Amino acid sequence: MKPMSEDTICGIATASGRSAIGMIRVSGSDAIRICDGIFDGKKCIRDMETFTAAYGHIVNPDTKDPVDEVIVLVMKHPHTYTTEDTVEISTHGGPFVIRRIMDLLLSRGVRPAEPGEFTRRAYMGGRIDMTEAEAVMDVISAESDRALKSSLQQLSGRLRTEITELRDTILHETAFIEAALDDPENYSLDNYDLKLSVIIDEVYDRIEKLLLTYDEGRVLKNGISTVIAGKPNVGKSSILNLLVGQDRAIVSDIEGTTRDTLEEYIHLGSTVLKLIDTAGIRETEDVVEKIGVDRARSSITDADLILYIVDGSEDLSEQDHFVMSQLKGKKVIMLINKSDLDMVIDRDKLMADYKKITGDDSDIPGIYISAKEGTGLEELRSTIEDMFFRGDIDFNNQIYITNTRHKASLLAALDSLTRVKDSIAAGMGEDFYTIDMMAAYESLGEIIGETLEDDLADKIFKDFCMGK
Ligand code: GDP
Repeated sequence: MKPMSEDTICGIATASGRSAIGMIRVSGSDAIRICDGIFDGKKCIRDMETFTAAYGHIVNPDTKDPVDEVIVLVMKHPHTYTTEDTVEISTHGGPFVIRRIMDLLLSRGVRPAEPGEFTRRAYMGGRIDMTEAEAVMDVISAESDRALKSSLQQLSGRLRTEITELRDTILHETAFIEAALDDPENYSLDNYDLKLSVIIDEVYDRIEKLLLTYDEGRVLKNGISTVIAGKPNVGKSSILNLLVGQDRAIVSDIEGTTRDTLEEYIHLGSTVLKLIDTAGIRETEDVVEKIGVDRARSSITDADLILYIVDGSEDLSEQDHFVMSQLKGKKVIMLINKSDLDMVIDRDKLMADYKKITGDDSDIPGIYISAKEGTGLEELRSTIEDMFFRGDIDFNNQIYITNTRHKASLLAALDSLTRVKDSIAAGMGEDFYTIDMMAAYESLGEIIGETLEDDLADKIFKDFCMGK
């Protein structure tokens, strides 16, 4: 276990603003001594058992003025979040009172923590690896059940275990080759190529399998980025309101989802849709006109899902065909709206038109929906789940990749392993293999933080919130 950091840090762990409770966290080798200096209770903090709490007051030791009544929770090195001595001071949640206590701590030599510094200390102390540190942030920002479950899986170390196993395998074979080259009398490389080839193939397949989860993992974490497309008057705005309306309470809680922004988050069961370019739709103008054809096209290109709306009570027009022609190669669900009226559009005929115009030949779902009466939403929800998720995350044992950084490192590892395979196929010497094998080992090491440059680690922790 690594020693505690020399400098002791403090941070406000609760959200800013007035609240019932505010919590200040202090961590480092001096945490207990410094907190004792400003705490007045029945017990001294240093005499308390680890993981126990005590009631008392924070007092300015110079003036003897009480600042607030508090509960202190003491957690002693090494079994703490940061692995260091940690004191958590729970006070009344007013910004002023919290500021006063922070000032007292700072005046006694504690330093304000950088964003993510507590988690960074957990990482530096060897308690968690980089995938687990990143998962902490994902748990905090999770916006759906699925996102939370996947982050908790990562936090429990499943990705770390998989990556560590792959690295161990590569290292073992590299060590064997090195040993055999050094000491050919005791280690033979006869027929070793064949054996190595099988092992490398297996490692390669496991990495590929992880990479295949990235798309699902990404939408799991960030929501399915969705564009509502269709010509004017088909009901885009009504459907948007229907989707938002059934979820208004949750939506208004999420930052950045005010009415005038271009993105809104919608919860459909345990799935989150991130609707893009909704401002144009809200103003009930043609989105293509409103935001420009290029912009509409690029939203469609970037989207994971297009909800393509037609008015089922009218025949298709040239304009419908134009919108369709923009959707080639995308994941599309056709919503045939106004099903409360007499329908003139038939799902099968619409799909045939769609295939003809886009040139895509796989079937796409078509759902009859009425924005007016609110029907069709359940079918939309289950269709989206079938399209994007392989089932409930509880029931499958899949480890998901949700992070672009991890994806890049896995791809780099695959590249190196491809070179190993090529060298084996070309019958190159064993010492050729080891360079690329070690490169793959290093790339995988970046994921768990073993071979991560310090400045990159800094960047990762900078995205954390204060006090975590
Ligand atoms: P947008 O231009 O595509 O955003 O279409 P709007 O949502 O503004 O709707 C155009 C018109 O169709 C409005 O008069 C809506 O009231 C009407 N409308 C939308 N959805 C339905 C529906 O499901 N049934 C019926 N009967 N009318 C609808």
